[in-house]
Amino acid sequence: MKRRAELTIWEQLYLPEIVRGLIVTNVRFWRNLSLHALHAVGLAKGRRAAVTVQYPDEYKRYPDNYRGSHRLTLKEDGSVRCTACFLCATACPANCIYIEAGEHPDPTVEKFPLRYEIDTLRCIYCALCVEACPCDAIRMDTYVHPRIWGYNRADFIETKEVLMGRSKVLAERGREGLMEDLLQSYREAERAVAAK
Ligand code: SF4
Ligand code: SF4
Repeated sequence: MKRRAELTIWEQLYLPEIVRGLIVTNVRFWRNLSLHALHAVGLAKGRRAAVTVQYPDEYKRYPDNYRGSHRLTLKEDGSVRCTACFLCATACPANCIYIEAGEHPDPTVEKFPLRYEIDTLRCIYCALCVEACPCDAIRMDTYVHPRIWGYNRADFIETKEVLMGRSKVLAERGREGLMEDLLQSYREAERAVAAK
C-alpha cells in the first residue's frame, strides 16, 4: 500500500476513487442480475454469472481431506470401538475430551466409555486425539463442518451417541447423509427460533 506522501493529488482527493468503486460495484451488480434473470428464462446459459452459495439451502462439497468434526468408530456389531484408555484426552492440548470409563460386560473387553464427550467450543481441531488413539477409535474424516450455532454451551458438547451416530450415518448414507443431517438440524433450529 502506498504511503500518504506517495499518493498523487488525484488519489488524495479520494472522491474519484469512491466514484470508480461505485461504478465497478454497479456494473457487476447489474451484469449479474441481468444474467441470472436471463438464465431463469433459459437464455444466455453459456455466460456465467457470479454465484452466492445459499447456505444452508445449498453448500459446496468439502474436500476429501477436510477434518471438520469427530466421530467414534464402531465394531462390526455396532458397539463403540473405544476402550476408554484416555490417551486421546491426555494428548488433547485444549483439554476438551471428557471420558468416563466403565467395565465392559464382555470379559474379553477390558473397558469402554460410559461417557465420551467433546466440547467443540474448546476444540482447536488439531487431530492430536486421532493421532494418539492406538485402536483407530476416533477419526475426523467426516468431511462436514462442525456445528456453528447454539444458544448455550451444552449445544456444543458432542456426546458419545452423537459421535457414534456419525459413523453409522457415514456407513449407511455416506458423507452426503452427514451433510444432510447437519443442514436439517440447522433448519429445525431456524424453525424453532421463528416459532418463538
Ligand atoms: S482435535 Fe485437538 S483439540 Fe480437538 S479434541 Fe482432538 S486433540 Fe483435542
Ligand atoms: S478414542 Fe482411542 S485414545 Fe481415546 S480413549 Fe478411546 S481408545 Fe483411547
